[in-house]
Amino acid sequence: MKETSPTRRELLAIAAAASAASIAEVVPAAAQAGPKPLFPVPMVTIPIVGETSVFQVRRIYCIGRNYAAHAIERGSDPNREPPFFFQKPTDAIQNVAVGEVADHPYPSLTKNYHHEVELVAALKSGGSNIPAEKALDHVYGYALGLDMTRRDLQNGMAAEKKPWEIGKSFDHAAVIGPIHPASKTGHFDNGAISLAINGKVKQNSDLSKMIWSVAEQIAKLSEAFELKAGDIIYSGTPENVGPVVKGDVLLCKLEGLPDMSIKIV
Ligand code: MN
Repeated sequence: MKETSPTRRELLAIAAAASAASIAEVVPAAAQAGPKPLFPVPMVTIPIVGETSVFQVRRIYCIGRNYAAHAIERGSDPNREPPFFFQKPTDAIQNVAVGEVADHPYPSLTKNYHHEVELVAALKSGGSNIPAEKALDHVYGYALGLDMTRRDLQNGMAAEKKPWEIGKSFDHAAVIGPIHPASKTGHFDNGAISLAINGKVKQNSDLSKMIWSVAEQIAKLSEAFELKAGDIIYSGTPENVGPVVKGDVLLCKLEGLPDMSIKIV
């Protein structure tokens, strides 16, 4: 009598095909030519408004203390010192869709978890020692972002003169809305930026108050690192950063882009 259920051999073939398909989805075509990865690692991508393509993230750079009033509240000189940078791991991205209130998990280890609303620039190309006058040619588009921060861990490590990575680089720490092509929005050198918690405005400033413009950030950053397509840059937060707790709903606004909202859970 003929067997009607799949044989073990057929099941293995189906499983192998499914596995190959899932790897093909997440590994770029060029990478498939060489040795196959042992297991698939998902690409990190950000949706692009009005496009079917997505933006693949290579590196996440962040600029520190780029608004004078925030530099003062963090205890540094607001004069035009060279900007400083740090990175977050690429897979720290949390995408937030327009109109969604995304659940954002309160992270481990902290008792003082802070919001930092920021403009994010997304690069389509890069280089080293890029002049500021040419820097915006490398920008594909812009998004609204949150540089979420375990402030107690950041401050504790800083006080001990240790790297404050644990305060900035953790899962879900790079919250971001969809990318808007600069070809449609233009570039952002001014415009209101704000953050409210449960309807009460906490941060409220203007991009024109950035000490270093996006073009200058790219120029300076490219002195330290070779920038490439897929790099994104969190451009710093205005003053009045502060804590969030579970249940809080954060609403971020940037003039010219749709709002972005998360709920701390
Ligand atoms: Mn920041």
